[in-house]
Amino acid sequence: MKKPEDIFQFMLLPAIARKKYQHHLSLQKDFLAESENSPYNVYTAERKNTKLGIITTGLAYNYLREAYHGEEIPYPVLKICQYPLPEKQIRQLYETCDELLVIEEGMPFVEEQLKGLAFPGLKPIHGRLDGYLPRAGELNPNLVAKALSLPDTIGRPVPDIVVGRPPALCVGCPHSDTFLSLNEVMAEYGRGNVFSDIGCYTLGFMPPYNSINSCVDMGASITMAKGASDSGLFPAVAVIGDSTFCHSGITGLLDCIYDKANVMIIILDNATTAMTGGQNYTGYGKLEDICLGLGVEKEHIRVFVPLKKNYPEMIQIYKEELAYNGVSVVIARRECIQTLKKKNKMEIQE
Ligand code: SF4
Repeated sequence: MKKPEDIFQFMLLPAIARKKYQHHLSLQKDFLAESENSPYNVYTAERKNTKLGIITTGLAYNYLREAYHGEEIPYPVLKICQYPLPEKQIRQLYETCDELLVIEEGMPFVEEQLKGLAFPGLKPIHGRLDGYLPRAGELNPNLVAKALSLPDTIGRPVPDIVVGRPPALCVGCPHSDTFLSLNEVMAEYGRGNVFSDIGCYTLGFMPPYNSINSCVDMGASITMAKGASDSGLFPAVAVIGDSTFCHSGITGLLDCIYDKANVMIIILDNATTAMTGGQNYTGYGKLEDICLGLGVEKEHIRVFVPLKKNYPEMIQIYKEELAYNGVSVVIARRECIQTLKKKNKMEIQE
């Protein structure tokens, strides 16, 4: 363990941040030199056909290779893997070729920067911004082939027997029972009252549940429900996973308590972080204590086991807490069946 030599390294008060920004600017020329000499930015200039010069980033280079079926690419190619953009090689490519084609996944990050560079002359720079490649969506070898006027690379058609399989909750998932019972209570209000978060339970948006209507960022289920409630929405319900709650939901709940918001927050306690493979999380076994400690009234922290046989009790709890004008936390507690299966298997092996 070594402390930073600059004791202000992580201090971003304005007076210090301004100096740091100047310092960062002064480093840019070194970064650029490093990028221009980097073995990861590969300029293949010896190609004969200079009608076109190609710039790729990331996965797009593989698409380009596939579009040529592994044959030699006839044009000069600059494969960029390190930033800032290696200006020297880009200018060389621009001067050598009649036109440029930029192939990059996601946003037209390089293409936009290129169009902002002061190049002499007016050679066309193609890419996502002028329609050579689609402006949105993932690229693939076929789209790259089309941009290069090559025959398409689409393989054989997908047989009818292969059907689309949208992601779904596991059969027997505890969230399934939580959503189906919640739907019974929320039916009279229509859709649009249940805010949620990111986790397996985001699939509660999909049929057959159609239970939730938002997934923006971790913890936003609670803050959005609060905002909606403050603006007059009733009922305002948040559905958040146990680990997401511990990661980013607690501050939102504190806010609800401070403002006495009229919200019902459902914490899906499946005893794990299921979506990322079943890791432990910080508040395991302490959800009630956390909520109590933050200030949720004890009688409005309710717990049930989400199972079909418990629907009458679950529905009753939802109804009672919706009728309460204040902050309620309903904990739906049943272990993820996948982690449970893993545990059982390990026990049998032991
Ligand atoms: S992994 Fe667990 S929590 Fe996720 S859908 Fe399957 S049973 Fe539900």
